Amino acid sequence: MENCLFCKIIAGEIPSTKVYEDDKILAFRDINPQAPTHILVIPKEHIAGADELNENNSAVVAHIFAKIAEIAKQEGLSNGYRVVSNVGEDGGQTVRHLHFHILGGKKLNTEMA
Ligand code: 5GP
Ligand code: ZN
Repeated sequence: MENCLFCKIIAGEIPSTKVYEDDKILAFRDINPQAPTHILVIPKEHIAGADELNENNSAVVAHIFAKIAEIAKQEGLSNGYRVVSNVGEDGGQTVRHLHFHILGGKKLNTEMA
């Protein structure tokens, strides 16, 4: 996808601090961390957001969540963490490439919205 920031990170055109990578997904550290641990997990296939998921492209989400559990263990988040996916303008999504935030390393704010 042209002009997609996260597609450029996948392509290596923009550097990132990688945490995990395989043929389907990439996990890297958020450039502006909101918690001591703040990792983004994205599919390599360009999907604009959770609002663009369907029966044909959503298998990667199960893979992402399986790896999120592994990454969280690796990062030492044994006391818990939060997984967030912002969707669209009202959801506060600033990058229109599906991503899941892993936030942890502190007691997180309990307010959801
Ligand atoms: P959103 O607001 O769409 O849910 O999340 C986008 C996230 O991407 C933000 O937390 C922001 O800090 C992060 N981000 C934006 N640009 C870059 C970048 O160039 N590199 C990295 N590693 N993270 C970025
Ligand atoms: Zn993209």
